[in-house]
Amino acid sequence: MKMVFVGPPGAGKGTQAEKIIAKYGLLHLSTGDMLRAARDAKTPIGIKAEEYMSSGQLVPDEVIIGIVVDRLAQPDAKKGFLLDGFPRTLVQAGELDRNLNAASDPLDVVLELRVPEDELYKRLASRGRADDKPEVIKERLVAYRKQTEPLVEYYSKQGILKTIDGIGSVDEIFARVEKVLDSCR
Ligand code: AMP
Repeated sequence: MKMVFVGPPGAGKGTQAEKIIAKYGLLHLSTGDMLRAARDAKTPIGIKAEEYMSSGQLVPDEVIIGIVVDRLAQPDAKKGFLLDGFPRTLVQAGELDRNLNAASDPLDVVLELRVPEDELYKRLASRGRADDKPEVIKERLVAYRKQTEPLVEYYSKQGILKTIDGIGSVDEIFARVEKVLDSCR
């Protein structure tokens, strides 16, 4: 199964992703985790990415697309993957499709985790990551609405979008996720 997880920062994608990969045996590819690892290792890409991450902006498409395309070409991605935090722009989504279609191996499902904005502020404020400061949170939510939300329509038109209500306990939300994923296996 090849899937993409879409949702604003603070929607609970990371938490649900852990449960999904444990149950369905997929490779978890979080571009946020990859960029934070690159930043901590002070690689050239990490240093460049930090400028954007610390202010809540998206890193440029050409930087992130290269990282993801290289990662998906590795053998362990053949068993299926859950992309968490990528794509985040229509350009990234188009590049991903182009890549997967070239291998005749398109996405199976896109899960959208939907949470109202006031709830996101509450959750992010209590998380305490470096980019969870109020002014940065605001920028990240603006970036989501402007650049990432159009993906909902993009994948809906492809007929592979499944929207999940992200309000409730972790287990309640995971039960909704399971229902959707079991129906598309
Ligand atoms: P996340 O952990 O997914 O919230 O990502 C943290 C930060 O990494 C984001 O605010 C962006 O600056 C950057 N980032 C992660 N994934 C992407 C992506 N697909 N495109 C652009 N920037 C990204």
